[in-house]
Amino acid sequence: MDENTDYTDENKPYTLEEEGLLALEEQVGAIPPSLRESYKVLEKYVSEKFIEIYGQYMTPEKREIFLSSRMIFVDKADVEPLREYFEKANHMDSEISPIDGVFYKGYHIGSPTGEGVVNTEGGATVLYSGRVTIHVVDEAFSVPVDMKFLMSEEEFYGYQDTLSTKEGFDAIYPRVNTITQGSTFIHEKVHIMQDPRLPLPIREAAAYFYAREVFRVNNWEYSKVGNTDKLADLYGECISEIGEDLHRFMLGSMDDTGRFNEILEQLKAKFTNERIKQVSEYHEYEFDEGKHNWIYWGTEKKLTTNS
Ligand SMILES: [Zn+2]
Repeated sequence: MDENTDYTDENKPYTLEEEGLLALEEQVGAIPPSLRESYKVLEKYVSEKFIEIYGQYMTPEKREIFLSSRMIFVDKADVEPLREYFEKANHMDSEISPIDGVFYKGYHIGSPTGEGVVNTEGGATVLYSGRVTIHVVDEAFSVPVDMKFLMSEEEFYGYQDTLSTKEGFDAIYPRVNTITQGSTFIHEKVHIMQDPRLPLPIREAAAYFYAREVFRVNNWEYSKVGNTDKLADLYGECISEIGEDLHRFMLGSMDDTGRFNEILEQLKAKFTNERIKQVSEYHEYEFDEGKHNWIYWGTEKKLTTNS
């Protein structure tokens, strides 16, 4: 790619090296210092598991970035000053970004209630850019994580039997949080690898797919996430059709422009506006959480830039 299209270039103002990230975390990190190390250990561990499977499709530079610490968690109060600096996640490109003329500018997952919509994601916002991803968490967020809490479905459900006791409840919460954060680390770091100009639904589908796949391969319980599963399935179909080159493409490691464009067209042929709508609508699931059943996309027919 030429220098105009390399949005992950080190010199871009929105990127941050690991050193800078750690310094920023010192100032605004929301995870209590006593727990911070456990999050770093978990991030490193799941990142290594990702690289075991997909590292073969990545350039050494991308692998190195993936394995380094790239995620910090901040309180809502601290996010505004960071927003301007970091919110560069969508790089709209008139050729690459639209699907049949439609630009996807954002999304949220929620449940329709009557006329309205409840955003069940709790307002957790992710700001990410070329090299860092920032999670907005609740001020009371202080649940430990531990990589040993990544476990098989059978083992995990064993803990559910003890939920009626306080001890049982206290035991399950860190386990659920470890599963959530472990898959989130993979999801967000995949975004860091991606070309930010790609259509948003495709980027999301891939991020959900890779997180789920790393959990599947390692036989770890993975929290079911409704329609995001449908999106991930659609990406899985693309892998079957396109083959391993899709991993190189999606993980920012495809330097053959001709092949890049070819794959992009194949992806857009699968991720049509109609198909995206279809997988984003309500589906019945065996679990009844009422959430994650709709994905709402913010779309625009014609690109207007606000920068
Ligand atoms: Zn995402």
